[in-house]
Amino acid sequence: MLLEGKTAVISGAAGPRGIGFATARTFAAQGARVAILDLDGEGAKRAASELGDGHIGVACNVTDRADCDRAIGEVLAAFGAVDILINNAGITQAIKVWDIDEGSWDRIQGVNLKGVLFLSQALMPHMRGRKQGAIACMSSVSAQRGGGILGGAHYSAAKAGVLGLAKAMARELGADGIRVNCVTPGLIQTDINAGKISDEARGKILEGIPLARLGVPQDVANIFLFLASDLSAYLTGTVIDVNGGMLI
Ligand code: NAD
Repeated sequence: MLLEGKTAVISGAAGPRGIGFATARTFAAQGARVAILDLDGEGAKRAASELGDGHIGVACNVTDRADCDRAIGEVLAAFGAVDILINNAGITQAIKVWDIDEGSWDRIQGVNLKGVLFLSQALMPHMRGRKQGAIACMSSVSAQRGGGILGGAHYSAAKAGVLGLAKAMARELGADGIRVNCVTPGLIQTDINAGKISDEARGKILEGIPLARLGVPQDVANIFLFLASDLSAYLTGTVIDVNGGMLI
């Protein structure tokens, strides 16, 4: 098993059909103890119990620094140590650039970008003290192609910000034995886009995907597994596209 004896924190993993929960299931199957952190605290607890014994669900709003510190404190009290952090929590909004107001800009930056900083910072003293850690962050193809599917310009900007933040963290934390990498998924079928794509739009999207299908959460979970495990021991600051060839 690739994660035997490891412990992992995964944000935004309460939804049973989401990428976060698929990642949690995959990590648990590979021997990890998993802490699911989510704004939906009840959902996080339910999701953790579905993984089996030894896993925990903790309420956490990643946009709130004190809440991240508290949640990570609870995880450390339960697990003793954390080896892996998956910054997966995110929200989107289909909106044209001319309609973005300050409130929606702040909301989208808050969860998708600031949340990555706050949750990573909450674990940094611990990971730096142990001289080890693997952090993987959720970006999006929207960062690379400038939106265009479901997220607005503020979402593209936030997910592009994640790439810069992750690379900077990789550079600064490398000497402490901490690796930081990113994934940039294409269109993955989850609740974030369920019911929002017309058949016509879906046909158009598929025309642009050489592998001729939309992604499923497991496609991304498998890459998070690779980035969390020692298989990627010499990878840091990288970005892995999981998009069926959408950018070729
Ligand atoms: P999802 O809605 O199932 O998952 C998002 C999770 O984040 C939810 O469980 C939600 O409760 C949680 N969350 C929202 N705000 C939060 C906050 N402030 N603090 C803590 N948790 C919070 O959707 P998903 O598609 O599985 O999305 C997971 C990640 O993947 C997101 O970052 C999303 O932007 C990204 N992504 C998704 C796609 C796609 O096509 N589905 C593509 C590229 C990137």
